[in-house]
Amino acid sequence: MSKKVFIGTDSGATTTKFCAVWEDGSTVTNKVLQRSTSSEKGRDAVIHAWISGVGEFLAQNSLTWAQVAGVGLSIPGPYERYGVWSKTPNLPASFAGWDVFTDYKNALAKQAGRELPLVCGNDGNFGGVAEARLARGHTKASVLMLMPGSGLGAAFVGADGLCLDGDTLAGAECGHMPAAVHLLGLSGKPFTCGCGRDWGCVEAYTTISGLPQLLAEFLKRHPAHELATSTAPIKEKVLSLRTRAQKGDALALDIFDFQARVMGIHVANLSMAFDAGIVVIGGGLMDHEATTPEFRARYMEKIREAARPYLWAPQKDTVKIIPAELGELSQAIGAALVAMYHSQGRS
Ligand SMILES: [Zn+2]
Repeated sequence: MSKKVFIGTDSGATTTKFCAVWEDGSTVTNKVLQRSTSSEKGRDAVIHAWISGVGEFLAQNSLTWAQVAGVGLSIPGPYERYGVWSKTPNLPASFAGWDVFTDYKNALAKQAGRELPLVCGNDGNFGGVAEARLARGHTKASVLMLMPGSGLGAAFVGADGLCLDGDTLAGAECGHMPAAVHLLGLSGKPFTCGCGRDWGCVEAYTTISGLPQLLAEFLKRHPAHELATSTAPIKEKVLSLRTRAQKGDALALDIFDFQARVMGIHVANLSMAFDAGIVVIGGGLMDHEATTPEFRARYMEKIREAARPYLWAPQKDTVKIIPAELGELSQAIGAALVAMYHSQGRS
């Protein structure tokens, strides 16, 4: 009999990635298939894009629909309820209130000629599931994942390998908790955040979204830096910081060191709630194509140094803070893994 596979569909606003895992959780291929989500063409086009993408992935890997034992769908939030989009940034306004779970499930049943189990969840949380499986190996360690990028994605994965969703699917939304920046010599008004909270969200101090505010703050300490007088658009200035940091620019390094320290203190704060044995740091700064090994090592070390004084004594020597491994593949693999875990009765 041919082997069962579990499909992962990771749908962003512009592209959808497809991958699959076997029954033991190993990936079918490390080559992810990427296709346009077609969200600008409406709901039916998106469902069509997902179904044909799965078909294409199966064909590429000499698999058939008959082998598919379950499907996972990873989508960005926020949601009205399970599998139903709320008003979501970057997606058409008409998608608010769309029950993607039911529509995808029906389309999968039609295509496969039988009901297929479908699970649906937050893309960041599913990414955490995949990184956690890799990071914990054969242990039962729980894993906290933090992904600084344009915003701060976060996930908590428990001993059962599944992510904490929470009662309103906002579980482990750790980016919008207040940051203890007073410990790092930053006074004045808390930074603003896209979520609207005024308590100084961690996201504003650790991600691209807050870089304009951080740059303004740090230029006060580097008044002679060329960015102080540059007339380039602010977006261009802040996006140049990562490249500058790789070349040893003092202002840029100060900014990323600061971000890492905020993240470290946040790791300690979150350890109060989750007590995770492993903390995985992902996101763009850990991208091997975008940053140097030296930069990544420095960033990780600053996180560890900042976290340590605030951890409980037994955690100080046991908590592992490590970089993510899977990059952009994690959310598709995670979706497939969650489908597999559910088929095994974990939920
Ligand atoms: Zn916020």
